[in-house]
Amino acid sequence: MAVPLSTLHPDTLEFDAAVLHVTDEGGVELDQTYFYATSGGQPNDTGIIKRNDEEFKILDVRKKDGHVLHILDRTGLESGDKVHCVIDEARRAKLRRMHTATHVLCAVLEKTDGAVVTGNQIGEERTRVDFKLDNFDVARIPFYFEEANRIIASGAPVRRYVTTREELMKDPSLVKLAMGFPEDVTDVHMVEIEGYDLQPCGGTHADGLEGIGTLVFEKTESKGKSNRRISFTLS
Ligand SMILES: [Zn+2]
Repeated sequence: MAVPLSTLHPDTLEFDAAVLHVTDEGGVELDQTYFYATSGGQPNDTGIIKRNDEEFKILDVRKKDGHVLHILDRTGLESGDKVHCVIDEARRAKLRRMHTATHVLCAVLEKTDGAVVTGNQIGEERTRVDFKLDNFDVARIPFYFEEANRIIASGAPVRRYVTTREELMKDPSLVKLAMGFPEDVTDVHMVEIEGYDLQPCGGTHADGLEGIGTLVFEKTESKGKSNRRISFTLS
């Protein structure tokens, strides 16, 4: 399984492509795409696909059976069409910042109190993180956010690189991580917040912490005995 182009090149917002296939349900598959398909708690990019002067709006981008399908506002594209694609820049930028800020908060939860992050749902305006933590103390929340915002304020660079499952298996500190991947995962996209955190992640990330904003706590909910949810925005 290859790392998506959107993950590798999040700065690429326009590209040319050819329509490979249109499904019976109207999903358009391109020969290459820099649009991010919903996965790993991060929602899809939006934007437009142009065929000469005709514009098709993208409503959704999703993965199906290993293919990326672009769901458009109307039918009309056909296999073989040459198209020009433009990604919605504002949405992509917001999601990159929000996603990167989420890495910082998750790392704080894990490193300071040993929380185990079990999932997240990233949004343009609001994000939630689910985690397991015995003896969760609501009074610790301001500390988590102060700590995360202190790290963000450091403006540390965010390094991204692709490694292999095999390479991870050789590193004692990463072997546990590697074991968590399905066998068919060969290439792994790593995201490192320099000097603080290293995670495998296939989303779209900022180039650094500088200018990504300030995390603002919104609410916390209990999701069972030791399962918690924290929701936040980014200002
Ligand atoms: Zn990520």
